[in-house]
Amino acid sequence: MARATGNVYLVKTSAGSVVIDTAAADQAAGARKMLDSVDHGPIKTIILTHGHADHIGGISIWSEPGTQIIAQRNYAEFVNYVKRLEGFFAVRNAVAFGRPVKPVGPWAGNFGAKIDPTTLFDQKYEFTLGGVKFELFSTPGETPDHLTVWMPAYKVAFIGDNYAGIGVEEPMSFPNLYAIRGTRPRPALDWIKSLDTVLALKPDIVLSGHGEPIFGNAEITRRLTRYRDAIQYVHDEVVKGMNAGKDVFTLMQQIKLPERFDLSQSFGKVSWSVRGIYDGYAGWFDTNPANMYEVPATSIYPDLVKLAGGSEPIVRLGLQKLAAGGAVEALHLSDVVLADNPRDAGALKLRISALEYLQERSKNYVESGWLDYGIANAKRNLAPAN
Ligand SMILES: [Zn+2]
Repeated sequence: MARATGNVYLVKTSAGSVVIDTAAADQAAGARKMLDSVDHGPIKTIILTHGHADHIGGISIWSEPGTQIIAQRNYAEFVNYVKRLEGFFAVRNAVAFGRPVKPVGPWAGNFGAKIDPTTLFDQKYEFTLGGVKFELFSTPGETPDHLTVWMPAYKVAFIGDNYAGIGVEEPMSFPNLYAIRGTRPRPALDWIKSLDTVLALKPDIVLSGHGEPIFGNAEITRRLTRYRDAIQYVHDEVVKGMNAGKDVFTLMQQIKLPERFDLSQSFGKVSWSVRGIYDGYAGWFDTNPANMYEVPATSIYPDLVKLAGGSEPIVRLGLQKLAAGGAVEALHLSDVVLADNPRDAGALKLRISALEYLQERSKNYVESGWLDYGIANAKRNLAPAN
């Protein structure tokens, strides 16, 4: 195994090797160098647990003439979707992962992605290499193309990012059922079923796409069950709330993860998942007829500023809200003023203070990245124009 942005696993058999995941493009060569210290023979097969860039970036580093590359069937549409919206995702990924914005070439069309796998399977695929059996199962979760690699002789399951997208170290974080950098819904019930598929194999070792292995069936069962039950709890509470006629913001406030799950929210936030599930089921319309049209609420913000006699009373109200702990209300008030004048110094200072207030209290690294992004933008607008 080589640890990079995404783990790379190499399984050596008497007839050559199988590589499971290939790391991000900029880390793949380093990962290969580490694994080349093993006499691994020819690379017969590459298996991609899913189509995220931190797992498929090193395909060319490992593939040899005749190497079979295997992925689940949904891989093709997943990588096409990522390529289709490449320009859109470039900025969002840069913020989410704290990296510079990658330059993007001309639009490659709807189906312009490079499809490296030579074998795409639907539900299950099996092969034997050097007498070692590999069973692959479709296990959609973090992405629709997720697969699990099972080696029955060793009771080892390679599960990609379906348990902990950033690592399996305790305290584990609740997953991102919606990643705010922009994703399609990640259906909770599919994810639960996929964790059940892994649990039913009764693995003794679970190897994840990030972080350290988990050893021992009792420990694996304890952790994966807890994770599954937490997803199920949040999903079911959203569904109950939707059926009771509650709006998405009420549910974001009300649904809390019970302490028995003992999960942090350093990676996935429960409130974002609540909204992800709600919107995943119902889409964007919230039953308010005003929101059926292409004129947003923000269009009358400049009128509100005029009505208030200028920005000053609105900024003052924002400062009062912030002093009382209402940082998000303060942000909304800064939005009102900035819609009228994007360079209003009072509103920008209010905005920076509110974002910094939230930053000091954030326990989620994704949220933290977006707060930094907001602070940097506001500071840029505050700087004198040249
Ligand atoms: Zn990953």
